[in-house]
Amino acid sequence: MSNFFEEQVLDVHHWTDRLFSFSTTRDPGCRFKSGQFVMLGLPTEGRPLMRAYSIASPHYADVLDFFSIKVPNGPLTSRLQQIRPGDRIVIGRKATGTLVIDNLKAGETLYLLATGTGLAPFMSTIRDPDTFERFEKVVLVHGVRTVAELAYRQKIEEELPQDEFLGEMISRQLIYYPTVTREEFRNRGRITHLITTGKLFEDIGLPALDPVRDRVMMCGSPALLADMTPILEGLGFTEGNTGEPGDYVIEKAFAEK
Ligand SMILES: Cc1cc2nc3c(=O)[nH]c(=O)nc-3n(C[C@H](O)[C@H](O)[C@H](O)COP(=O)(O)OP(=O)(O)OC[C@H]3O[C@@H](n4cnc5c(N)ncnc54)[C@H](O)[C@@H]3O)c2cc1C
Repeated sequence: MSNFFEEQVLDVHHWTDRLFSFSTTRDPGCRFKSGQFVMLGLPTEGRPLMRAYSIASPHYADVLDFFSIKVPNGPLTSRLQQIRPGDRIVIGRKATGTLVIDNLKAGETLYLLATGTGLAPFMSTIRDPDTFERFEKVVLVHGVRTVAELAYRQKIEEELPQDEFLGEMISRQLIYYPTVTREEFRNRGRITHLITTGKLFEDIGLPALDPVRDRVMMCGSPALLADMTPILEGLGFTEGNTGEPGDYVIEKAFAEK
């Protein structure tokens, strides 16, 4: 048996000259938990060049969604950004990753903190009804540089609240907080600043982070994770992982080379 599923590209959407998303068919044997990632690449004659990609669709969906950066001269994304419907891509059989709700202890409010393409796993998490059964409130914070980089904003703000199955949960339980650093927007500034100054909590009407009640998932730049981890640890949050649930879990949205 091959280590890869070969899937067909169904749809491609370019958000900006740096970001695009695409969906593919899903082999019935492709199993994953909402929030996990797989290895993904383009078919070639030899061994395909594979990169880690979070699956942005929920575990029950019959298609796979991905949200991608376009790295100038990036070995994979300089070619991947040219895919069209009907093209083939390869996906590793094994999904893995720490951003699954089973890795968190029970709590009341779940904070999903993302920068850039770090939103991808949380597009899966917020479309999984289990998330809303486990937590009373789910706060999705997405930090980007420009308003155009707020990918999926219309989907989160307008489509999901009308969704036949998820609409009621999303409308009642999801708080979406997009924030922009380099342009005018209703919310401005870096996630760390919004948390340490208390501005985020003032704006959403919830108390400041507390490990007794709150749980956190983070996916973003290595800088976000390096800045946020000591803040959470300082507040008494403990990190969870597979087999040992904790108060917070993290995953890099990409690795610095
Ligand atoms: C666990 C995990 C999950 C990931 N999930 C995603 C995902 O869902 N979507 C996605 O686009 N990428 C994701 N990545 C990054 C991805 O694996 C590749 O790095 C990316 O597709 C670029 O590939 P490349 O070969 O073109 O360039 P690479 O040689 O892989 O990267 C070159 C440089 O580009 C920068 N870079 C790479 N990826 C990003 C990014 N996503 N955002 C900002 N800068 C970046 C980094 O500085 C990196 O050193 C993930 C990485 C990890 C470790």
